[in-house]
Order: sequence, then C-alpha cells, then structure tokens
Amino acid sequence: MRKLHSLGPRDLSINRREFLRQVAGMGLLNAAKGFSPIGAQTFPKLSVSRRKAVVVTFGGGARDQETFAPEGQENIPHLLSEVLPEASFYSRVVNRGILGHYVATASLVTGVYERFDNFADVAPEHPTIFEYFRRQLRRPPEDAWVIAPSNGFNRIGQSSHPSFRGGSGYGADVILPKRMLEAVPSLHTDKLRHLLQDNYENAFEVPQAQFGDARLSRIETLLKLSLSDFAAHASTLESPDELSVYLAKRLMREVSPSLIWITLHDMDVAHAGAFSLYIDAIRRTDRLCAEIWKAIEAEPEYKDKTNLFIIPDFGRDSDTDPGGNGFQHHRTGDPMSRSTWMIAMGPGVHRGTIVDRPVESIDLAPTIASIFSCKAPFATGKTIQEFVA
Ligand SMILES: [Zn+2]
Repeated sequence: MRKLHSLGPRDLSINRREFLRQVAGMGLLNAAKGFSPIGAQTFPKLSVSRRKAVVVTFGGGARDQETFAPEGQENIPHLLSEVLPEASFYSRVVNRGILGHYVATASLVTGVYERFDNFADVAPEHPTIFEYFRRQLRRPPEDAWVIAPSNGFNRIGQSSHPSFRGGSGYGADVILPKRMLEAVPSLHTDKLRHLLQDNYENAFEVPQAQFGDARLSRIETLLKLSLSDFAAHASTLESPDELSVYLAKRLMREVSPSLIWITLHDMDVAHAGAFSLYIDAIRRTDRLCAEIWKAIEAEPEYKDKTNLFIIPDFGRDSDTDPGGNGFQHHRTGDPMSRSTWMIAMGPGVHRGTIVDRPVESIDLAPTIASIFSCKAPFATGKTIQEFVA
C-alpha cells in the first residue's frame, strides 16, 4: 500500500536535504560544497564541430516522493547506481510555467515560459534551441531531431517567431513514433494497441498531426528502417517510451545528429488513477534513461563528445492539496508539482556531484546553446553557471 505524505513547501525542502544526506552517505556523490565551475579546463579541448547534446525529458510528471525523495529511491535504481556517479545532479529545479506537457516542453526548448494553450495546434512562440543551433552553426536539417510521444507535440521543433520569419526551416524534424506505427499498411492493432495511446488526459482533444508520405519515407530512408520492420520490432516492446528509445538509438547509429531531444511520457498514465501503473512507468523510465546513456557510451560518434541532460517536465500534485487529487494530476500548481531536478552528464561535467543551488527549467535551452557556443537571445532563462563557456 502507498503511504500518504503531507508535504508542503517546508517539508519538501527537508525531504530534499534528507535525500542529499542519504546519497552522500552511500558514497556515490561528493558534497555539494566546494563545487567549482567547469571553467576552461574541459570544454575548449572539444571543438564545437564535434560536440553533441542529448536531452531526455523524464516526462509525464513525476513527484519527488516517487523518485529522489528517500521513500522513492527504490523506483530509480538505475539512476542512482549507474547514472548519478557519472553526473552532476541539480537538486533544486523549479518550473514556474504552465503545467501542461506540450507547453512545458516547449518552454524547455525555447528557454521562455510559453503561454499558449497546451492543447492547441500551435508552434512555440519563441525561437527554439534547434533554430538557434542550426542557423548560427549552419547545420543541415539532419543535425537536430525531436522524438515525441504524442501527436500534440508535432510542432515543437520550430517556432513561429518573426526573427525566424515564422518558420523558415531552421527547426528540428519531429519523429512521432505513434504516427509511424499508424501508417503501417497491415497494422495488427491488437498487438500494437498498447503503443498507440496518444494522450492520457482524455478530457481534451489532441490535434491530429499531419504526417505525410514524404515525411515518412524520409525517415524510413535516413533510419534505414522500413515501416514493416519497424512495426515488427514494435510488437516486441512494452510501451510507447520504449518505442521512442528504440528510434533514438537507430537515429544515433544511422544519422548521428548533434542535437537530439527525446520526450518520454509513459508515467502520465497516472491520470488514469492507478498508482501501480504510474510507478511501473517511473521504473521503466529509470531503466530507459540508463539505456540511453549506455547507448551514448557505446556509439563512437557520441562517446566522450556528448552532454546528456535528463529533466522532468514537471512534478505532480501533492496528496494534501485540497485542489488536487494527489499523484493523479498536475492541476494545482503547488510546490510539489513545480519542484523538480536535472541530471547533467558528459564532457566538462563534474561527476558524482550535487548542485543544490536553485535553477529554473527555462535555464536548460540557453545552457545547451552555450555548449554549442551559440546565443539564445530571446530566452529568458540563464545559462547554468557550470556551462558558461
Ligand atoms: Zn499529464
């Protein structure tokens, strides 16, 4: 049985301190004190032309108490034992924006708290990190990709901002694995139905993505993967996020883009109200994140050149807020749903280190820009201190 917790802002901060104490006690991590900026030692050794960045949203909304709080650690064994010793852990990340998955992820990619309707078929209003990156470094379309769980994320790769003339083609291509599955001619829906759940908030209508034949065949060609082979492999997988990670690995192997953004989403099944399914999804996400890091380490094109960032889009409601229904939703905007964390790995990152200084989720986009020696002039977030070039 799940224990009920009555976490308010003060308790949450105590809980995080307890977490820091425990993990430090396990010998996995250094103390946060004495953390020094990455500085000039590591970054300049790697030229911008060889650097890569992968972002994984630990997405769908996960709370502290089911992840990094002491009582949640049993759900994230891979992050704790395989990932954190190689990573800097930012223990105090705050999201002050709208807590809907598409708009919150759009805020992560633009570095601005986007204000549009989460369920509208619109592009981010501010330039995305993909557009800054591709235009400033003159990179081809194949060098920046998003793999997204929901058809509602179709337009996340490219903004409508006037500085990019409302979509001038500098964005990232967006792979929608479920749209690809649906396009398989002889789809055995019984075997694949569990992979086609598009949106866990059924009260809302999600716009249908346009995923034309040209876009599909381009992806087939680049990934060297026929739709029928894709469907055959998909039938062996457990969840939509496994499907996304499968495609991400294929993309790394066949195309080797410099910037990949993978949005995981399985744990949003929590909206259905089944705590066990929510926990199963967190455990799966934990495993998949470690798998992605292993894939980076195994691919010569990525090994020792890639910064990986793992960040939840946001949390979920606390059990005691009268406006919510606990883990099930993210509607109250309470501290539990806004407080999250981030993991950074790869060149220049201090391993096994906790950074307890507050940062905001919109700081990620300018931080990635800094890794590629780009500017993100419309981002309102700030480059995270350790990544200032
Ligand atoms: Zn949700």
